[in-house]
Amino acid sequence: MRWPRFPRRRAASPKAEAVAPEAESEAEPAAPYARERRGMVATQLEARGVRDPEVLAAFRTVPRHAFVDEPDPYGDHALPVGSGQTISQPYVVARMTSAARPPGGWTDANVLEIGTGSGYQAALLAEMGARVTSIERHAALADEARRRLAEHGYGERVEVLVGDGTQGWPAKAPYQSVMVTAGGPSVPQPLLEQLDRSGGRLVMPVGDRHHQFLTLVERYESELTSTELEPVVFVPLIGRFGVPEG
Ligand code: SAM
Repeated sequence: MRWPRFPRRRAASPKAEAVAPEAESEAEPAAPYARERRGMVATQLEARGVRDPEVLAAFRTVPRHAFVDEPDPYGDHALPVGSGQTISQPYVVARMTSAARPPGGWTDANVLEIGTGSGYQAALLAEMGARVTSIERHAALADEARRRLAEHGYGERVEVLVGDGTQGWPAKAPYQSVMVTAGGPSVPQPLLEQLDRSGGRLVMPVGDRHHQFLTLVERYESELTSTELEPVVFVPLIGRFGVPEG
C-alpha cells in the first residue's frame, strides 16, 4: 500500500446555488457573533453547495472569533493565526470537513488532525462529537490552541500534541478520519497506514507549494481510492514525510 498507486477520479465541483440569507429572528440570540455565524453559513457555505447538516450546525455554534485575534473573523477569507501560519476561509474548512466524514458519522469517531493552528478545526470536530488527536509542529500555536479549546469547552475531546504530524500518531490508530490541514507533494505513508481499514477517510491538500488539490483518500482493507475535489492553496506540510524544512 503506497501512495500514489491507486486510481484517480475527479469529483464534480459542488454546484453554487443562490440561497437567501437566513431571516433574522425577532429577538436577537444572546450568543456573541451568532448573527455573523448564521450569515457566514448562509452566504459562504450553503450558497456554495455545502449541505451536510452536522457541519452547518457546527459552523453556527463554534465561536470562530474566539480562535483568531483578527478583525472580521467571519469574513470570506483566510486569516493569520501566528507563527507565520493561517486559518483557511470558512468555505474551505467546511468542504474539507464534509469530505472527511467517517462512514459511521462523527459521534465518538477517532479523528487525527495534522496542523492544529488556531484550534478552530479541532473545535468543529469536537462539536460534532468526535474524539480528536491534533498535532502541531509549532509549540507556541499548540499551547495557545490548547488553552482556547479548554476555555470553550472542547478540552475533554481534543488532545493537542507537539510534533511532526507527517508521522501520524500510531499509539491511537486506527483513525476513522484524518484531516491534514497543510499541503504536501503526496499523502504521507504513515497516515495511510494509520487510517481505518473499513472505510477510513483522509483529506489533504496535495500538490506543490503554490497549487494543490484537496484530495480525499478512502481505505478499504489495503485498497485506497483517491478523489481530487477542488483546487486550494495551503501552507506547507513540513516534516519527514512532507516538505523538507528550510
Ligand atoms: N487547522 C488549523 C486551524 O483550524 O486553525 C489551520 C492549520 S494551518 C492552515 C496549517 C498548520 O499546519 C500550521 O499551524 C502549521 O504549523 C502546521 N504544520 C505544518 N506542517 C506540520 C507538521 N508536519 N506537523 C504538524 N503541524 C504542521
